[in-house]
Amino acid sequence: MVYSAEFTVRTRNKVELVDITSQAREVIGNSGLKEGMVLVFVPHATAALYLNEHESGLLSDVLSFLRSLIPENKAYLHNRIDDNATAHLGSILLKPFVVMPLRAGQLDVGTWQNLFLVEMDGPRTRRVIVKVIGE
Ligand code: ZN
Repeated sequence: MVYSAEFTVRTRNKVELVDITSQAREVIGNSGLKEGMVLVFVPHATAALYLNEHESGLLSDVLSFLRSLIPENKAYLHNRIDDNATAHLGSILLKPFVVMPLRAGQLDVGTWQNLFLVEMDGPRTRRVIVKVIGE
């Protein structure tokens, strides 16, 4: 069966990493499903999701890594109409979804794999859609 739910995340900064692991785990617990997979998706072109460690130094490293890959001071054409080309490019690079295995009713992810929402054009309210597919 498929269990669907969603929650919102209010971001506070232009660029921000928000750990949404606990919200995702709550939805998965509510699903009652035990084996299968979990899709988490953000329906936004200027946000993304990723899995990795929640450590303050690494969070800073992620932000500077993204800045180095997608510099702010370039003449992006999209900025003619909407001053957020770097946010779109970041969403393309990182992807707006994560798929994780579900085992024994829990996310079967590594100890250092927390789920992060990447805000790149905040502050905004972001929708996070969760589909738990399994039995
Ligand atoms: Zn735009």
